[in-house]
Amino acid sequence: MRWILLLLLCLGLPARADLDYQLKPRQIAAGTWLLEGSTDNFAKANGGNIVNSGFIVTNSGVLVIDSGPSKRYGEALRRAIAATTDKPVIQLLLTHHHPDHVLGNQAFSDVPIGALAGTTDLLRQQGDAMAENMYRMVGDWMRGTEVVLPTQELKPGLLEVGGHRLRLLSLSGHTGADLAILDENTGVLFAGDLVFYERALTTPNSPGLGVWLKDLDTLQALPWKQIVPGHGPLATDARPFAQMRDYLSWLDGLMRDGASRGDDMAEMIRRPIPERFAGISLTRYELIRSVSHLYPRYERQRLQRLDGL
Ligand SMILES: [Zn+2]
Repeated sequence: MRWILLLLLCLGLPARADLDYQLKPRQIAAGTWLLEGSTDNFAKANGGNIVNSGFIVTNSGVLVIDSGPSKRYGEALRRAIAATTDKPVIQLLLTHHHPDHVLGNQAFSDVPIGALAGTTDLLRQQGDAMAENMYRMVGDWMRGTEVVLPTQELKPGLLEVGGHRLRLLSLSGHTGADLAILDENTGVLFAGDLVFYERALTTPNSPGLGVWLKDLDTLQALPWKQIVPGHGPLATDARPFAQMRDYLSWLDGLMRDGASRGDDMAEMIRRPIPERFAGISLTRYELIRSVSHLYPRYERQRLQRLDGL
């Protein structure tokens, strides 16, 4: 009997060890740490850790930016922070309501969870469905994860915490409610999912690609020194902006041209993807999704234009 128990324990251990996110914060500026996720899609192999989160150690405590895809991630993030600094966590800021950025909130229920009002509304409406979808895609990693709504409304403007001046921007191109955070002390711009870099952008809640392009102008004009994209590697130059603009303009033009020719969705999702985007992960997968999210609008706009003739 003892042998059987031992055997079961041995079999069980690797499985449990596999569910370790092994988060390793990397210091990117004074008091500023990044946890960089994979640029792959959600999968059981990565536990949904496809996202960048971060934290800033200020004189009065630690500000955390995004809580990750699961309760387990949120807890691992708390441990990683505790291993980095003795300062307590004092606040969590959410960039937007998508599941990979907010489903670790349970691990931060002891501190204020700040978000734009629109983010809280969207999470209230869509959170449970998004969490269910995450359970389907990454399975056991999600165990015990529940949606926790923000407890504090963030307004655009200056947020001064422990000697850091954070400029909060309320933008909307990715989801309708997107927070970007510029730390004026370090020049680190936490762009949230307004910037994807070397990973195809996602569009399930975008109000329109034109809105997104304008937001990029706003962000690029800020006095940043480093850009932390929501997904993809840290950058110290404007390449993420150039890539985002190029990609968004291509996607917009593709759908506009398709609609003007009367092409259907099945044709659109098979369109060739320019060679210059070969280094961007998941372009075909996200093109299929973006066409399903956005193409009907392009078709409607074309019909309205024809009506107006
Ligand atoms: Zn997102």
